[in-house]
Amino acid sequence: MAGKRRVALVTGGTGGIGRETCRQLAAAGLRVVAADLPGDDARQQDFALAMQGHDVSFVAMDVTDPAGCERAIAAISASHGPVDVLVNGAGITRDAVLRKMSRDQWDQVLSVNLDSVFTLCKLLAEGMCERGYGRIVNISSVNGQTGQFGQTNYAAAKAGMHGFTMALAREVARKGVTVNSVSPGYIRTAMTAAIPEDVKQQVLAMVPTGRIGEAADVARAVVFLCHEDAGYLTGVNLPVNGGLFISF
Ligand code: NAP
Repeated sequence: MAGKRRVALVTGGTGGIGRETCRQLAAAGLRVVAADLPGDDARQQDFALAMQGHDVSFVAMDVTDPAGCERAIAAISASHGPVDVLVNGAGITRDAVLRKMSRDQWDQVLSVNLDSVFTLCKLLAEGMCERGYGRIVNISSVNGQTGQFGQTNYAAAKAGMHGFTMALAREVARKGVTVNSVSPGYIRTAMTAAIPEDVKQQVLAMVPTGRIGEAADVARAVVFLCHEDAGYLTGVNLPVNGGLFISF
């Protein structure tokens, strides 16, 4: 990427898709801050090892804590300068059919996956507009496009991200800020590791490319949307699903 080295903040940055996104953004020349729950020492070390040789640092952040997010962003601004690129990647699932879903399962999923997008964009979009440059990418899901059995909470949150993305894209477009979403299909990460093998095989049978996706497949799409030259691409949802759901 040309010119000044941009600063990128990736939430869920030590997760499967998050860490590969951090790695690829850094490889593209950005200074990257991975924001995530603190995790244990072993996870921290594993992440540090994976990021060796890349300009990726870590900040502890719980995206459901707006005051904590504000403090973390102030610290990043002090150490790195203002954030130019925001990737909202933090996400969780708490699956249950609606009949059995607790209020808590609903609230947790909406809070981590959707409310956090409001929190982070609210904290960062204004500054991006003032400086005349910004890239925001929200990691949604194919299940936000199609719905999924046992995921009324997750599907609602991920579909909500699309509405948010399209609306904010319109608000900030004239200020040089783009807002897009990426919708992964089934990607090999901790999130999908718990899916029973027989269900995985059923899903795989529906994927035209004949393989489960890798975090790198998703990260590539994120980096594309974060590029300096991607300024005319906004309000877009980029599916990365191996053809699992083909639409336009
Ligand atoms: P992952 O490995 O579980 O990564 C998610 C990350 O978000 C984890 O590091 C997790 O930390 C973090 N996180 C959870 N709650 C948080 C909080 N309150 N504050 C800050 N960080 C928090 O899963 P992934 O597959 O890479 O998922 C990344 C994104 O892609 C998610 O938004 C997910 O919904 C989306 N996605 C994934 C797939 C897939 O097939 N894998 C498909 C479609 C969409 P902990 O590990 O400590 O909980």
